[in-house]
Amino acid sequence: MSTINNEKNLPEGSKEIRCIVCPTGCLVHVENVNGELIIEGHSCKRGEEYAREEFVAPKRILTTTMRVENGFLPLIPVRSDKAIPKERLKETLKLIAKTKLKAPIKMGDILLEKVLGLEINIIASRDLIEVR
Ligand code: SF4
Repeated sequence: MSTINNEKNLPEGSKEIRCIVCPTGCLVHVENVNGELIIEGHSCKRGEEYAREEFVAPKRILTTTMRVENGFLPLIPVRSDKAIPKERLKETLKLIAKTKLKAPIKMGDILLEKVLGLEINIIASRDLIEVR
């Protein structure tokens, strides 16, 4: 069991969180007890950190597609280069939906830079040639 003090803006209540850091998949219990974070059920430090972040400020790598005007295919798979705070995912998806790209595109190209003012880019997950 770990106890973490002095966290700011801790969510209320408790959560059971399945750790996905390794295939063991420990079930970690995280609870805010009077402003003190209690973490139980993890088997290692990485799992403790994962569960703490999932409880306090969950983030996700965003994977989706973007429209391409003159591409060999009309859509290109894209992803965020870092995990995005969960509460910003919807906004990011709206921004992506509004954007139309031009081919050619190379895998890893930055398609949207610093989305929503975050240090996160949306990048291409594959090459896409243009249609002539
Ligand atoms: S807590 Fe540690 S051992 Fe358990 S799933 Fe997470 S990373 Fe693996």
